[in-house]
Amino acid sequence: MSKTKEEIEVIKGKGNVRFEKLSRYAKIRSPLEKFEVVEQEIEFRKDPLINHWSRINKLRADRVKQASAPGENFETNLQTVVENSAKKCFFCPENLTSYTPKFSEELGLGERITVGDFNLFPNLYVFSQYHAVGTLGNDHFTQLDKFTPKIWQEAIEGSIKFFKAVHKYDTNVKYPSINFNFLPPSASSIIHPHIQIIQDIKPTKLTEKLLRKSQQYTNETKSNYWSDLIASERKLGERFIVENEFMTWLATFSPMGKNELTGIVTIPKTDISTFTKADSRDLAVGLTKAFKALYHARGATSINMALYLGPIGQDRSDDYRINLKIVSRPNLLPNYTGDIGFMELLHYEPIAAASPENIAETVRKYF
Ligand SMILES: [Zn+2]
Repeated sequence: MSKTKEEIEVIKGKGNVRFEKLSRYAKIRSPLEKFEVVEQEIEFRKDPLINHWSRINKLRADRVKQASAPGENFETNLQTVVENSAKKCFFCPENLTSYTPKFSEELGLGERITVGDFNLFPNLYVFSQYHAVGTLGNDHFTQLDKFTPKIWQEAIEGSIKFFKAVHKYDTNVKYPSINFNFLPPSASSIIHPHIQIIQDIKPTKLTEKLLRKSQQYTNETKSNYWSDLIASERKLGERFIVENEFMTWLATFSPMGKNELTGIVTIPKTDISTFTKADSRDLAVGLTKAFKALYHARGATSINMALYLGPIGQDRSDDYRINLKIVSRPNLLPNYTGDIGFMELLHYEPIAAASPENIAETVRKYF
């Protein structure tokens, strides 16, 4: 099937923001309906900036009105996993200094970075020239809805110290990001909660695309894509979650993962190393509210998060804003089913389990 212009429904937002979607209908004779013909709508959605396509089966998505709690089986299994992993955890305070790497001396960071209960040190096996791991508190396990703004503020402040030191040492290394895999279904091999921050001479593929497309948008419109996106979503309302003077939260129109939330830092700072303590606190408050919302409204217990930061030492506030994505992953059950299959991994075309509009509606009250 080809996606022709005639078939695409376009909802015009502010400036050049266009929400494009295409609906097709599949007919099956369903065993659930005594083999009567059942029609199912498949909606294809395109991201207004990066042109990323995703799909939603409307029948399935609208059925997920409110995610249920993870359940007793989940709790029992989690407890076992937590207890077993706590017996020898390199990230617990009694082991951390003996078993985690130290920074090399030329960075001038000392052995490790400590801010309050946050400890940052090099990753043991790196996939970035500058790749650090930071523990989110001394507790071996923290439930997703129990993270405090304090520990996340410390994590952001500690990350900024690292980014600044690396950039001072090598000014070509200016593309940082802050990332979070939480619990094994998200690809985290260690239960003790920790962030991973990286800094390289080149941005990641998606960061590069976001920066480039944002710049292109500004060149064409003399406007900022992120401001226009927020204005568009605010007016439409259905995916708009909340905003304050620091940031705005949306359910992503064309998501990359399940239960996806987009956070946009609206203050004109694209270089996170220019953040004040108050900025770090405001971001931390936003993140912990989003975690609570995903846990309570969507039944999410395991997540991935990425912050797409602007380059260090450059002001991109004309055309960019710091933005982030959080997606949920399967619950840690003994026989859980993975949620990344051929569509996501090999076709780059994720299938949304719930409609973004339903996600926004259910998470709103937790912000
Ligand atoms: Zn631990």
